[in-house]
Amino acid sequence: MPVRLAIPEVDEVGPFNRLSASQVNAYSSCPRLWFYEKVRRFKMPQIPVLFVGRAVEEAFCRMLQETPALLVANASGETLANIPLDPNGVPSRETGMVWPADRLLALPENMWPEDLDGLRTWAQQRLGIHLPRALNDMKMEWEKDERKAGDWSSVDSGRCLEMCLKGLEMHLAQVERCYGAEGGPNLQQWRAGERPQWPSPDGRSYSLPFQHPLAQEGPVTWVEAWEVARPWFVDPNAGKFAMNAIHPEHWFQGEYDLIYRWDNKINIVDLKASIGAGDRSGNYVEQLRMYAMLWWVTHERKETVDALEIWYLGADVIKQIDVPTIDEMKAMESDLNSLWHQLKATKPSMEECPPEPSPMRGFAPGGIAVQAPKTIRCSRCDWNAVCPGGEGPSELPEGGSVRLPGSSGSFDLTAIGSLEPRMTLIAEVFSVLGGGEGKRPTIKVTQSGHFAQLQLLVDTHQDGQPAWPQDLAKGDRVKLDGVVPSANYKGELQLKVDPHAIVVHAGENENMSTSLLDFRARWNVTGRLVYRFEKKGVGRNGKSWHRKGMMLLDATGSMKVEGWAADWGPQYDLAEIGDTLVAANISLDAWATDIKGQINRNSKIQITERVDRED
Ligand code: SF4
Repeated sequence: MPVRLAIPEVDEVGPFNRLSASQVNAYSSCPRLWFYEKVRRFKMPQIPVLFVGRAVEEAFCRMLQETPALLVANASGETLANIPLDPNGVPSRETGMVWPADRLLALPENMWPEDLDGLRTWAQQRLGIHLPRALNDMKMEWEKDERKAGDWSSVDSGRCLEMCLKGLEMHLAQVERCYGAEGGPNLQQWRAGERPQWPSPDGRSYSLPFQHPLAQEGPVTWVEAWEVARPWFVDPNAGKFAMNAIHPEHWFQGEYDLIYRWDNKINIVDLKASIGAGDRSGNYVEQLRMYAMLWWVTHERKETVDALEIWYLGADVIKQIDVPTIDEMKAMESDLNSLWHQLKATKPSMEECPPEPSPMRGFAPGGIAVQAPKTIRCSRCDWNAVCPGGEGPSELPEGGSVRLPGSSGSFDLTAIGSLEPRMTLIAEVFSVLGGGEGKRPTIKVTQSGHFAQLQLLVDTHQDGQPAWPQDLAKGDRVKLDGVVPSANYKGELQLKVDPHAIVVHAGENENMSTSLLDFRARWNVTGRLVYRFEKKGVGRNGKSWHRKGMMLLDATGSMKVEGWAADWGPQYDLAEIGDTLVAANISLDAWATDIKGQINRNSKIQITERVDRED
């Protein structure tokens, strides 16, 4: 089965704590790099090429999903888009839902392609319809990204189409083989309408009531070969990360690209919209080997994969990877489990993730191993300027106090790891308005004559309990556990309920000394500047808006500080990556484990130490 969902009753790890192949590869390339990106949550610059790969894959999968027996070559790209999804974004198993392909009548058979060339021509036109839309969606996503870098005009859509067409030829080779094998061993089951537990996405429901609507009699037809050879892939309409294969003990997960299985041989394919040159090609090999292990483990250790392939669409090369032996997979599973304990069971400290990069690996186009380059990994690392393994200093700031120019007193600086954006207190419900039928109520609480509004941003707490009691009424005593306080523009107190906060009835004898007035509105922090980011847009009222921000790192943690562009002083623009900055008089916000600082017009940004650059 290409998908194995988590079993919530026994899942003690949780969706955010599993290991993935990309994390393992990041850690192997440099433990400190993994720490920066996964623990400190640094986000690498988002250059267009990262989005292009996703657009190529999406266009390719949307084409694979379709069939020339239902859609003419210039049909809308949306025809199969509206599949039913369950609340987790998984294609829904609820019967009674109508699936888009089940709703369509087959085209007259004289319009179906009668040979491989006919299939090719139709599929090429489908790619021509899907790719521009996928690229446009990705362009919008890139434009919205606060870490966007580079220039979208560098994207060559002709080159992207070329890569899609190369992928099509690789797929057509499977279709041709399937046709040559008279539809393979599963043609009759397919004709009878039998579907595997996770069918290859084709816009149809999980089970068909009768025989397959496109089934023919006699020798396999080209359209049947197209249908039968279709690999499994993540339905492009499914939710993000909804279709993972999860280790039975829940500590590892992966999402396969393509699984060919029409000949009862399991072939896992990883699609790459690149030529496959450079160090990263080594990661792809390791990723596929981990996927082979995952397949074996999620099939009760009884079924192994038959082939592992990387399709380098930019180089028009299929690279075959040796399938690991059972002994190798056992060792890999045990190593990865140890790594999970090391990295995820408890959060490691920065010192436990040393700046020790592995040597660079050399690969020529097509993922062919060649002599490694002489360069060292740090020289092209995004975190070079703040990392002691690169050109960054070995010491990081850690709270303290500071005098700032233009201010008479000194500022106490809180170490980032000691910031407390949450509070827990007991209060009385003052009013409950609205709610019900899927809507969240408006709840006001009071304590010693002071009032606060609850901001219910989720329905359920991270542990699965309702985020607030459904029977809440005026006069109830409630415990507000881990809520995030803030003051709105009118100075009114708000208490945010996110996945890490919960409202419950307070026990009769339960008391707490925390008061609403304990809310601390202003904080001062310091840290090294890791990067700046910004976002612009136009609001619903037609007015344009512009926000800017920065990522700060100190010895105890990291945080984003952001605010309206006009509220940042000149020091923000003068700062260089690696400089130490103070952000004084900022307010705090939090979402789950992320803490964010907000600047306003009374905040102060000051460079307190320049990075020493000798060039
Ligand atoms: S600069 Fe070097 S040591 Fe530091 S994170 Fe990057 S690769 Fe690792």
